[in-house]
Amino acid sequence: MGHSGGKGLSLARRLYTSRMLGLALGLLLVGAAMYPLDPPRWVWVFMVFNAVLWPHLGFQWARRSNVPYHAEHRNLLIDSFLGGFWVAAMHFNPLPSASTLSMMAMNNVAIGGMRFLLVGGAAQLLGIGTGLLIFSPAFIPQTSPLQLYACLPLLTLYPLVLGWICFRQAHTLGRHKRELLALSRTDSLTGLLNHGAWKDQLDIEFQRCQCQRKGGAIALIDIDHFKSINDTYGHVAGDIVLRQLSKILKQNLRASDLVGRYGGDEFCVILPDVPLASAAQTMDALRDRFTCLGYEQTPALKVSLSIGLASFNSAHTDPTLWLHDADQALYEAKATGRNRVICRADGTPHQLMVRSV
Ligand code: GH3
Ligand code: MG
Repeated sequence: MGHSGGKGLSLARRLYTSRMLGLALGLLLVGAAMYPLDPPRWVWVFMVFNAVLWPHLGFQWARRSNVPYHAEHRNLLIDSFLGGFWVAAMHFNPLPSASTLSMMAMNNVAIGGMRFLLVGGAAQLLGIGTGLLIFSPAFIPQTSPLQLYACLPLLTLYPLVLGWICFRQAHTLGRHKRELLALSRTDSLTGLLNHGAWKDQLDIEFQRCQCQRKGGAIALIDIDHFKSINDTYGHVAGDIVLRQLSKILKQNLRASDLVGRYGGDEFCVILPDVPLASAAQTMDALRDRFTCLGYEQTPALKVSLSIGLASFNSAHTDPTLWLHDADQALYEAKATGRNRVICRADGTPHQLMVRSV
């Protein structure tokens, strides 16, 4: 269970509800078992204190402590101790005793696993020992029908509530896990796939192209002279340019295209099931649109893109070879003057063609 929410405050809140219910139902059971024994008045007072006041005291105690998580573990051990105490007080009447001990054991194992189950068991034994010192040791082997019925609410309702709490906890953990996974695959500045996530997608697309003998292309996109944009207009303006490019990419590509930020001012796109010529057209239109963009805060700023494109071909025995082709095309785009798209054509890895200048 979670060690979170103010160092365990959420755990304390969950246990507050379940403790109130468990101890209220437990009062019925212990009361029915103790009634025929005609105990002194203080025992009744202590029984009501344990069932009615203790859940509130325990919660306030945990809430005010520095680490509510640890305080709640202490409270659970007190629960176990008192459970053992009442078992001795009931003279080990079988059904109420087994119900009390097993419900507390269920609580302990749900909160702290096997180790805490054992520690809780020791607290129960200590409670039994204390009970034996106060009440004369005795054993009542019979549970009366009334005592049996008094056990039923605890035996039926409490596991239901604890099961529900555990289910909700597992559900929340599952959601957090999915959110963390998405976060670990996302570039925080642009919201695109990050380097690792995009490379995973490239592996998948590579396998698909190999198995299904389908064509696809990848593009590496790099902002021209981005360092001098940072130097001239500042890094905040640079970040705006990066976000603007990611927006243009998202808006102008198909939902099936996989866009990522490769790193720094370099972006990457997988364009599945597209012939190289139409991929080049798409990329050139995108380059054009991006070059025409104006920036409110820095009207003088003009930014261009160099793009390297490579289609999948049978010479690519590895995704890195495919990526290498796109990288070579990008290098060529930079070397031949920037602000252009260069393609590596299908099956002819060394043939370069300029799409647009
Ligand atoms: P070229 O035309 O050859 O691509 O030149 P360039 O200046 O764009 O290339 P270079 O790789 O030298 O510069 C990339 C710069 O991108 C350097 C780095 O400071 C900057 N950069 C990397 N990540 C970020 C970022 O998240 N935000 C901003 N504002 N700048 C970044
Ligand atoms: Mg650059």
